Amino acid sequence: MTLINVDDLVVRYDKEDEQLHSVNGLSFTIEDGVNYALSGESASGKSTTAKAILGLLPDHAVIESGEIEFEGRDLRSMTSAERRDLLWEEIAFIPQTAIDALDPIMTVGAQIRQAIQTHREVSDQGARRQSRELFETVGLDPERIDEYPHEFSAGMRQRVVIAMALALDPKLIIADEPTTGLDVVVQDKIIENILQIQEKTDSSLLLITHDLSVIAETCDEMSVLYGGMVMEQGHVDNILLNPSNPYTMGLQNAYPGQNDGSNELISVPGEPPTLDEVPKGCIFEPRCPFATEECESTRPPLEKLPYRNQRVACHHTDRAARMRHSADDPST
Ligand code: ATP
Ligand code: MG
Repeated sequence: MTLINVDDLVVRYDKEDEQLHSVNGLSFTIEDGVNYALSGESASGKSTTAKAILGLLPDHAVIESGEIEFEGRDLRSMTSAERRDLLWEEIAFIPQTAIDALDPIMTVGAQIRQAIQTHREVSDQGARRQSRELFETVGLDPERIDEYPHEFSAGMRQRVVIAMALALDPKLIIADEPTTGLDVVVQDKIIENILQIQEKTDSSLLLITHDLSVIAETCDEMSVLYGGMVMEQGHVDNILLNPSNPYTMGLQNAYPGQNDGSNELISVPGEPPTLDEVPKGCIFEPRCPFATEECESTRPPLEKLPYRNQRVACHHTDRAARMRHSADDPST
């Protein structure tokens, strides 16, 4: 079954003196049981996409067009009450800044119990028991459940937020950069923890991260975003082993850990675009080492590669392939 279907989504932010298009015709599908990653540099529209799915965009954001469905239900036409229920009961959200999700003047235990009791008819005692179990599930000591957020380390607070998100046994967990800002050892533990829980609860994962090594460890399929558009989409292994869009190759360069030497490094200097005006050609053209006139004048459609289940928006996928092959064999 299809869990999430996003089709041709366009989101803009209206600012005082400008309109910023942050998501520009984005489409992707998450099937039940699949772990899906949205990747891309900062400002590529990852969080905006998640917030659009969750109905959590701020007031000055406008969904100009497109469809967002959860299990075939049209999310855009739901009332805010319907969406609120959906948010907790079926889709759990671990926000980018987890600390913001916690109330500093309430013990973490009280917050988890509140999350449970707002949505389920559970006795105080039942909620207490369940929140202690959740604490254990995320690897926290249940004896500390009556402490306040500031008494926990950043990594532990992130676990508290994960525990809260899982309280209602969601079908889909959306985690926005769940490990950013944490040290590497803690990052590994959190990721391991999310995966364990997910296996136990049989939920799917939409993971938002710019970290390709985390994606390699956790996800089956992915979309690489730039300027709110998909540059490359498909199975994680295919994309990481055979990146066919120069932007993806550049991202790998930023995370050399994911590059085993078979892909020549491309560097993509420059900044992501500010999209008050969406260019008519390829959005990556100004930074692209392969760019030609065609790239400036015509936007490359997202097209499936003939030889692999991988979709790429680039006029020059052949050059990416040649580059990979010459890197495999320096004599060619
Ligand atoms: P990061 O990796 O830094 O979290 P992201 O891929 O999640 O980046 P978004 O937060 O979706 O990117 O932002 C996409 C674009 O939309 C950026 O140019 C950003 O400045 C803009 N934007 C995001 N949130 C708002 C907002 N609340 N108001 C106005 N513009 C916003
Ligand atoms: Mg973000």
